Amino acid sequence: MKIVTKVKDLISLIKNINGKVGFVPTMGALHEGHLSLMQNSKNDNDITVVSIFVNPRQFGENEDLGKYPRPKNKDISLCKSLDIDILFMPEESSIYQSSDEVRILAPKNMAQVFEGEIRKGHFDGVLSVLIKFFNIIKPQNAYFGKKDAQQLLIVKHMIKDLFLDINIIACDTKRDKHNLALSSRNIYLDKNAYNNALKIPYSLENVLQAVLSGENNSIVLEKIALECLAPLEIDYCKIVDFNLEAIKTIKKDNSLLILAVRVDGVRLLDNYWF
Ligand code: AMP
Repeated sequence: MKIVTKVKDLISLIKNINGKVGFVPTMGALHEGHLSLMQNSKNDNDITVVSIFVNPRQFGENEDLGKYPRPKNKDISLCKSLDIDILFMPEESSIYQSSDEVRILAPKNMAQVFEGEIRKGHFDGVLSVLIKFFNIIKPQNAYFGKKDAQQLLIVKHMIKDLFLDINIIACDTKRDKHNLALSSRNIYLDKNAYNNALKIPYSLENVLQAVLSGENNSIVLEKIALECLAPLEIDYCKIVDFNLEAIKTIKKDNSLLILAVRVDGVRLLDNYWF
């Protein structure tokens, strides 16, 4: 595995590759969810490039960028254990070269709701770094988790709007043995908070059961989810289409339930794709 920290070194490595390149962008603190994206990329491509970059542009003013976990050596070992070809761990200054640079703005209607309403400018930051990575790495395939549904849908939108020739591969959410979605933030949950967080998979399971029994009304399904989540602090819990617009009834392959809750101050996201 080659570990690359400089953009120019990665560009010259990429120039010499013959074959399909798969790309997995991450912020590190790797868990089985990230590893499943990497495994998908390895299965589909000749070369897999993984990036680990805690992107300052996607953190809001009141979010503590400094506190984001950075277990560098463990992350490197995990990538090695998967036999990743190239691990890109750039310095911030090599990605953002000046304070006055071309900016990417995420589409308002999709990016200023839900996560974007709570984390102002978050998706502008996500897209700004991704477009750089895509230009440097020139992947045929890029892998994103369905866990971050809004991010995935906005990235797909950028690919379409900017005519980028990259397949965005949506990967299923990996869960622990109690069905809680894996997240780098789960380490902040103590035992009691963890038990409370299990209301999230419980609510998704109940919504699924209702859908299987024929329910398709969004308000009814949202109510079921909310009742199961109580008394957790809910940021949002909504059924939307792939433009992130509220819909009255769910439609197969164009609707999802997205939710964000706070459990003892830890924000957890999850969703169900109908
Ligand atoms: P992050 O490091 O949090 O930016 O995540 C990097 C990628 O891993 C994103 O595409 C996430 O959606 C994806 N991811 C995060 N958690 C999971 C999970 N539990 N299962 C599958 N993919 C995940």
